[in-house]
Amino acid sequence: MKLKFLGTGTSQGVPVIACPCKVCHSTDPRDRHLRTSALLQADNGMNILFDIGPDFREQMLREHVTHLDAILVTHAHRDHVAGLDDIRAFNWVQHRKMELYCNPEARQAIERDYHYIFAPHEFPGLPEANMHEILGNEPFIAAGCQVIPIKAMHKDLPILGYRIGPLAYITDANRIDPNEMLKLQGVEVLVINALRPAKHFSHFCLSEALDVIDAVQPRRAYLTHMSHEMGLYADASAILPPHVTLSYDGLEVEV
Ligand SMILES: [Zn+2]
Ligand SMILES: [Zn+2]
Ligand SMILES: [Zn+2]
Repeated sequence: MKLKFLGTGTSQGVPVIACPCKVCHSTDPRDRHLRTSALLQADNGMNILFDIGPDFREQMLREHVTHLDAILVTHAHRDHVAGLDDIRAFNWVQHRKMELYCNPEARQAIERDYHYIFAPHEFPGLPEANMHEILGNEPFIAAGCQVIPIKAMHKDLPILGYRIGPLAYITDANRIDPNEMLKLQGVEVLVINALRPAKHFSHFCLSEALDVIDAVQPRRAYLTHMSHEMGLYADASAILPPHVTLSYDGLEVEV
């Protein structure tokens, strides 16, 4: 399988609008982070998307994605679902609804905020999706792949991470309970969110993400959902353990 990082930034993205800091004015392309999302090209040829944020359209065009078979939503914060209207392009070329997977909390928010996607409609041109509610206890099949949902907390909001074979993708967590950590045993490639060095009330900071990596012991780990407060890419990545990589937009990983 191949994992492509489409966006690796926190909700505001980097550069932040009107921010005078050196990260937001860096000329290193690795210091530019669109909102967090990643594309998994599975061995069966299927394309599985993790989250569909406000930069979805730009990300699909940049990577020349011609088909999309399933979307695994971690939670319904806008930086993870605001691209939903643009599934229309795939509805048209694929002549079918998009398959959308998320937990009950995200389902409720998406069906409220994007009610027109799910309501019967008489006019063509609206986005169309099949909603699959994932409770988080049982593995499920998406795009022909077995997916193990991993329940995590994002302050008070239950969210889902996803494991597909040797890959686990978790973002916006700030707590993973021990029984859910067990589901990460044997993961070779772990993607985990790390907002910045300083502690934060609803996202893992750098040291907390490194603690999760220490507990899981993957072969390689990739940090995502970074804020400009992480510092310059070159400086921040220089102090990481050798098996931990600060992800950046466009980074491609063989799993
Ligand atoms: Zn987020
Ligand atoms: Zn800045
Ligand atoms: Zn969030």
